[in-house]
Amino acid sequence: MNTMNFSTAIFFNEPEINYISQHNLWDFLDEKLNWITAHAPIAKIYLETHRGGKYVSKETLIRMKDLCKKNNIETAGGITLTTTPTNHDSDLFTTYCYSNPKDLEDIKAIVRYTAELFDSYVIDDFFFTHCKCELCIKGKKDLSWAEYRTQLLKKVSEEVVIKESKAVNPNVQVIIKYPNWYDEYQQSGYNLEMGSTLFDGIYTGTETRDPLHTQQNLQRYSSYFTMRYLENTRPNGNMGGWFDTLDCSYNLNSVAEQAYLTLLSKAKEATIYSLGTLIREDLISVPVLGYVFEHVDRLMPMLGSPIGVATYKPFHSSSENYLHGSLGMLGIPLEPTPYFPMEANTLFLTASAACDKHIISKLKDYLKGKHTLILTSGFVKAMAQKGLDELIDIKVTDSKISSNHFGVGWYSCAYNHYATSPEPITFPILEFATNDTQNTIAALTNNKSYPILLQTNYHNSQVYVLNIPDEYGSLEKLPQDVLNYIRKLCLKDFKLEVNGPAPFSVFLYDNETIILYNFTDHVGEYSLIIDNNCCKLQDLDSNSFITGDMVNSKNTFNFKINSHRFKVLKIVSN
Ligand SMILES: [Zn+2]
Repeated sequence: MNTMNFSTAIFFNEPEINYISQHNLWDFLDEKLNWITAHAPIAKIYLETHRGGKYVSKETLIRMKDLCKKNNIETAGGITLTTTPTNHDSDLFTTYCYSNPKDLEDIKAIVRYTAELFDSYVIDDFFFTHCKCELCIKGKKDLSWAEYRTQLLKKVSEEVVIKESKAVNPNVQVIIKYPNWYDEYQQSGYNLEMGSTLFDGIYTGTETRDPLHTQQNLQRYSSYFTMRYLENTRPNGNMGGWFDTLDCSYNLNSVAEQAYLTLLSKAKEATIYSLGTLIREDLISVPVLGYVFEHVDRLMPMLGSPIGVATYKPFHSSSENYLHGSLGMLGIPLEPTPYFPMEANTLFLTASAACDKHIISKLKDYLKGKHTLILTSGFVKAMAQKGLDELIDIKVTDSKISSNHFGVGWYSCAYNHYATSPEPITFPILEFATNDTQNTIAALTNNKSYPILLQTNYHNSQVYVLNIPDEYGSLEKLPQDVLNYIRKLCLKDFKLEVNGPAPFSVFLYDNETIILYNFTDHVGEYSLIIDNNCCKLQDLDSNSFITGDMVNSKNTFNFKINSHRFKVLKIVSN
């Protein structure tokens, strides 16, 4: 029985279950489950009923349920909506064609079969389509593929998946897992908006694996960010985060970090994919994950609700894709939402926010308050000729600048100090109206300076434009002084400054608790500057205290964090 502050689960897919059954490996599996549960607290196993056009028999599923029960593990169902590879010759992922009546009949049968056997099941993240068959081309008409596919998948979710499941089992809970590729859901039909109401719950793909050598361009921070985005899409309806050990053998910390970042978002459940992968080659990850689960279970009651700099990413939006992950690795704590956060003191917008057709009127209302608006250069570019000119006089040109020399902050007409990056970084050149707009951070080269951070005002608010380099990965190479300045701007509502070497992440909670996670491959030296003279920091892991020093009349706490480790710090009164 699970008595932890969150649940833990493993997904067991169809080929793996059928392999056990066909080769009569029940004792072998029993032995492995014994070992796994001895090393990690596992509360639940998701048993997949179907994948790739193949079913697991009722007899095998019942026997599997019994085996799990013997090992004190609950069970739930799982479905992957992929068809046999031969069905769709050109299909990269063997997903179904949702315009095809024959495929819809297959799906009907799969969900009915699963709902009869389980009171809860999760749909793995292949519930998408990139089909461009004759039927789909005809059905699409004048819509974009994203519009057609999101509408189609919503209809199929409602009229086939949910309706047919509830018809055979009115109590069944149907959970949809959304993939880790949050910036491109709509292009393949994933409709996050429907997830906010239609299903009994949603689930989050938090797989980040190896950001460099794998096909997806996902930074470690995305494991946290995507959880928060889906939690804010459907408060209390995000049932958990799902990661795997695929491509993680290069560094066991990568497995631990996916689990930590998933859970530190205050997840209800963590699911590891998959039992077969663990048994075949990744059992070494199990004790690591077991430790992470126990560690976070101890910490979780001490963490309040996650907070951060509001960032608005509308439903069905994309552009500057996955930039949030790179920003999060700079120590900017983002709190994403698909609903415009009119009450937020500071709002950070990337180009995806430009997908909201009413963004300018919302911003005009927002800027009536005493707020801080931070726009990326991508947003400014996307909104050129679309009404942004009325708010700010800043343009993104097609020209580029490369520099490794930067000026930071103001000192009369010059910069307060100058800093150098290890290599030149390439940015778009921004044009602005001098003295209507102030150049606060600049890249310096060839006797010229080019804006990196611009500041202006509109109504009662301050508006900043942050120039984003062509290559997001190079953000981490900006000089520490530049990053400290940007971070300070983003953190000003929290009366907090965090200085240190990127990449690292900051997680904030509403009970004066802060987590700093060092992602560098070396020990990092950090300073936390708090606008409160009468406090100290309690390290909640070691129960020790860090006392501050007054530096420039600010309470400054200096400490080190080892590579790929984190500190959980609580601000307590002296
Ligand atoms: Zn089709």
